[in-house]
Amino acid sequence: MNMDVLVSLSKRRGFVFQSSEIYGGTGSCWDYGPLGVELKNNIKRVWWRDFVQTRSDMVGLDASILMHPTVWKASGHLDHFTDPMVDCRECKRRFRADHVDAISWTHYCPATKGNKFTIPAGEPCGHCGQRRMLCPECGKGELTPPRQFNLMFKTFMGPVEEDASVTYLRPETAQAMFVNFDNVLQSMRLKLPFGIAQAGRSFRNEITPGNFIFRTREFEQMEIEYFVNPNDRVEGRPADEYWHDRWIEDCVTWFRRYGLRDENLRLREHDRDELAHYAKRTVDVEYNFPIGWSELMGIANRTDFDLKQHAKWSGKSLTYFDDERKEHVVPYVVEPSAGVDRAFLAFMADAYREEEVRGEKRVLLRLHPELAPLKIAVLPLLKKRDDIVRAAQTIRGDLAKHWRVVYDDTAAIGRLYRRQDEVGTPYCVTVDVQTVGDSERGEAGDRRVTIRERDSMEQIRVPIGELTTVFRELFDGASWPQVAGRYPPARG
Ligand code: ATP
Repeated sequence: MNMDVLVSLSKRRGFVFQSSEIYGGTGSCWDYGPLGVELKNNIKRVWWRDFVQTRSDMVGLDASILMHPTVWKASGHLDHFTDPMVDCRECKRRFRADHVDAISWTHYCPATKGNKFTIPAGEPCGHCGQRRMLCPECGKGELTPPRQFNLMFKTFMGPVEEDASVTYLRPETAQAMFVNFDNVLQSMRLKLPFGIAQAGRSFRNEITPGNFIFRTREFEQMEIEYFVNPNDRVEGRPADEYWHDRWIEDCVTWFRRYGLRDENLRLREHDRDELAHYAKRTVDVEYNFPIGWSELMGIANRTDFDLKQHAKWSGKSLTYFDDERKEHVVPYVVEPSAGVDRAFLAFMADAYREEEVRGEKRVLLRLHPELAPLKIAVLPLLKKRDDIVRAAQTIRGDLAKHWRVVYDDTAAIGRLYRRQDEVGTPYCVTVDVQTVGDSERGEAGDRRVTIRERDSMEQIRVPIGELTTVFRELFDGASWPQVAGRYPPARG
């Protein structure tokens, strides 16, 4: 799967546009178009339904993006949320030091009288031990030694631009769950273990953003902070370790359930020296993106680090009273943290198919019906026939009370089907002459329409009056053969 194909489909069909494109674009900022916003909302909606709405141990939060600046001192972001950065002395471009090291380079080795070698990614020269010193873009400029660069966006609160009013755009949504721990605990009378979930924007001044929506400076996260009693044991194991494994399993199952194929998913355990300062253990769910295997989400055991830090810096107690042991404890927290934009990219990439149908190329997005931006397209077979158009518009209006439904009559039926396949619409409804009959000849219609299923391209004839029930069954999870078996096939 090629990223350019996805970028071009995304623009052509209204999923993702470059931000401020008419002004030449804003580096690595993207706008979600009419279909993109539907897909993105659907991802967040099913995540919320599966991890918050249906669980009695979960509650939600929607916190402000701007927080008290001390939050970032306490969390460690002011001191540690940095990436090593190098500059090119010639072209002045900036790179993340570890990204520069991850590209192979041409080296004229001084230890071998200037012989030319291609040094593989991540390795120094085997003869002289040198690492890449020249800019990977212009190839001429020398790179500076690495410096630490803080990724938080600084801004000023209020009209005065002075040190006292400095604050930051949040680089993760997590901290709001920690600073609101006691508010949530008291207002909802919760018992451990319980989790707080939040989906919202985060900002990171990434040194090298890119690869479409994979790495941007403004993005959305879906995060959960799951608090457990560290003194509890579950199935003979410490509660935090048990729940960490449970969340890893639940998250992978969730991505599979909405269409990511097994062979494109894998887990990666963080090495000891790679672990964030707060983490006891972190596991990434990686996806085989068009750019290769990369992080889709991270699931960290953050221990009691955050609650203890905020208690220390705020002077407020952030503990839980353990009724059984009659003692106050600081809960441990397991954090499943996923990027909405990366999930969007993974679902699109995994759904993309090119097939050959009767000698013609068919482009198909096999999106899970719950994620598909449009659920149903209603299409008139003949747009010149008023009665057909009227019937189709009425059907669209009725179905649109329940689902995102479009009406399209701007091309011949074959072309209309292809258009819907390309954006992943699971079902098309076609109204034809048979549906409405021919009043001039005194022929009554059968009041049945054709439903066409995207993946199999099978077609059945269904009475208009049964459409809502049929679609409700299908969107509630009934399989196509289960439903289609009850109706006669349509002549294709
Ligand atoms: P990376 O190593 O790719 O920079 P990270 O380990 O810093 O990511 P986390 O801090 O664990 O990322 O953030 C949780 C999730 O948020 C990531 O798994 C990813 O899905 C998403 N995310 C983080 N940074 C970005 C970004 N710049 N653009 C888009 N999504 C992001």
